[in-house]
Amino acid sequence: MNYSKKIILVSPRGFCAGVTRAIDVVLEAIKKYGAPVYVNHEIVHNKHVIAELMEKGAIFLKNIEDAPSNRPIIFSAHGVSKKITNYAESNNKIIIDATCPLVSKVHVQADKFYKQGYKIILIGHKYHPEVEGTMGQLPSGSISLVEDANDIDKLNFNEDHKIAYLTQTTLSIDDTQNIILLLREKFPNIVASPKEDICYATSNRQKAIKEYAKRCDAFIVVGSKNSSNSNRLVEVAKKAGCHNSHLLENAESLDLTNYSSCNIIGISSGASVPEILVDNVISKFQKNFSMEIENVSLGEENIQFKLPRELRN
Ligand code: SF4
Repeated sequence: MNYSKKIILVSPRGFCAGVTRAIDVVLEAIKKYGAPVYVNHEIVHNKHVIAELMEKGAIFLKNIEDAPSNRPIIFSAHGVSKKITNYAESNNKIIIDATCPLVSKVHVQADKFYKQGYKIILIGHKYHPEVEGTMGQLPSGSISLVEDANDIDKLNFNEDHKIAYLTQTTLSIDDTQNIILLLREKFPNIVASPKEDICYATSNRQKAIKEYAKRCDAFIVVGSKNSSNSNRLVEVAKKAGCHNSHLLENAESLDLTNYSSCNIIGISSGASVPEILVDNVISKFQKNFSMEIENVSLGEENIQFKLPRELRN
């Protein structure tokens, strides 16, 4: 058969273990306590997931103060500051923590560095809920946020200070590496977490796209605009040589005319994206063009996280 176009479908893609767990937490909490259950912030950054959970009885809040004290309050996969945890505890809320264990690991490490007397630098994006949650583990001013090289110039530590750095879990591996090199130049004795902070899912999805995007005329990352890891995947595809790379919310937002002159289209998805959204994008292409699908993979993922104790059977 002669195909007019080819899709290179890149794996690993889609749900990571932390997102799967966070969604299961909401579903299990609805089962155990009945609807509604309240969730501080979007449980994960994907519109489709949020809409489905709302239908089942989840209510997503911007302010924890809006949650009634007699219903469960769930913390999102991104984690929360101590201020929010303390507020929830002192208001007798039923607290269920869906913070990804890999984000909690960064919180624990921040606390260790603090107790050991380190000045702490967090490489991450201002206003991202994970960054707010990590910075909020310690008293205000204990962690200095570095978003880019300019922020490094503003760091004023003495030579005798012990300095450590941590990172957000969903950053670009390459960009972060460059920032770390600059930090090491300025602070040769700086120390890092004993284990990598950028998580396995972020790292695997970026590596796979880096490998395959260079073969593509266009690259689509299915994901929501507010999803940090999805946005990083688009950047990785562009840096790998596929400049025609874009984030796509879902099949409805897909304008096929943009792809009429592309022969090879790469597709992947962010860690908070259900596979149905990728399937719908592929179906839309298939309805309009004769498409060959090539599945490519840089390896399997088989990580699973346990539910919080209060939701385990
Ligand atoms: S992207 Fe990484 S840190 Fe975030 S929820 Fe998934 S596994 Fe956890």
